[in-house]
Amino acid sequence: MAAEHGTEYAVIGAGVAGLTATIELALRGAEVTVYTDTSAAPPASEAAPAVFTPYPGGDPARFQRWTEHAHQTLADLADHEPRSGVEMRELREYFYQRPQRPAWLDELLGTRPIRPIPKPFVEATSSIRAHIDMLTYLPWLRSMAERAGVEFVEQRIASFDQAFRFGHRVILNCAGVGAARLAADALVKPMHGQVVHTRNDIGLTYSLHDDAAGPAGQVAYIFVIDDRLVLGGTFDAGRSDQGTERTAIDGIIQRCRALLRADGHPRWEELGAEGSELRVMAGVRPTRGAAGAFEETRVELQPFGHGRAVVHCYGHGRSGASISWSTAADAVELAMGGE
Ligand SMILES: Cc1cc2nc3c(=O)[nH]c(=O)nc-3n(C[C@H](O)[C@H](O)[C@H](O)COP(=O)(O)OP(=O)(O)OC[C@H]3O[C@@H](n4cnc5c(N)ncnc54)[C@H](O)[C@@H]3O)c2cc1C
Repeated sequence: MAAEHGTEYAVIGAGVAGLTATIELALRGAEVTVYTDTSAAPPASEAAPAVFTPYPGGDPARFQRWTEHAHQTLADLADHEPRSGVEMRELREYFYQRPQRPAWLDELLGTRPIRPIPKPFVEATSSIRAHIDMLTYLPWLRSMAERAGVEFVEQRIASFDQAFRFGHRVILNCAGVGAARLAADALVKPMHGQVVHTRNDIGLTYSLHDDAAGPAGQVAYIFVIDDRLVLGGTFDAGRSDQGTERTAIDGIIQRCRALLRADGHPRWEELGAEGSELRVMAGVRPTRGAAGAFEETRVELQPFGHGRAVVHCYGHGRSGASISWSTAADAVELAMGGE
């Protein structure tokens, strides 16, 4: 059914969730308009480093299906689309507490133990994961959508009714933290995060991550992204501004040096050295869930009568860059059904 005004489909949000959903729609022949609100909280997607780190949330069977599909899709992009900003690379994970992970996940990622386990950790593993350079990936996704004829409009959508009045029949709500207001969903909460990008002067070839269970009580990660390093991070629940603080960035650099030292890298002291810093960034993760849960991602169709519907696709928390191709596929299946 063609819309009277505007395209039949609208997507609210041009973060990684909205862009991948838009491409899935366009690939199935839909005409799509994408709305973005540039005055809103800083989108999570632009600040994410990002490495394939799916976090369990919601139904375990859905988590497994989403993880497997997204891992394969990103691996295919790394193999066949050199300009996408996606590459497969080693991630070393260090744990202060013994991790609990499903066996299928270790199998999927080819996880193997690192031995001997360096002090002060109780477990150490290595796996091969997608590394996504969001500064390349987001413009690449957008140009793919534009080549498919998608129109991008910089306009804040105040309500679903407003978007229906433009003539759209199906609206995909991929608004990240903006979904809290649009969908009146109290489970959506902002979680501010800071990172620092530096030159890779130490020739690091693998990424590192700890489980945030050390004495600092905060995570340390060093991701090799293209020719630079991204050091993180912070998790400030409830915070949705764009600010960064020097003390937070210095804390990140100290924690990352300690992690690299424990790993045994000979040049750990040079990490984040003066003059190597490229940029400091902050983003707001769209977490969703009751206390202690962050990734109860909502992918659900809400009928609005007269053949109209909203398909919600938000609440990706800490793992939107990882799983968005899977949430996009499910959302578009709901939006287009058997068309
Ligand atoms: C520091 C940091 C590190 C991270 N690291 C990783 C990682 O390693 N791996 C990983 O997988 N994920 C990581 N993440 C999480 C990941 O970035 C997010 O899960 C993901 O970007 C969420 O994408 P999104 O499209 O849902 O939201 P966003 O990127 O926030 O996009 C929301 C979009 O909605 C639009 N919008 C909102 N309200 C409205 C409105 N009313 N009208 C019109 N448009 C609207 C905004 O303009 C924006 O375009 C990280 C995040 C941060 C901040």
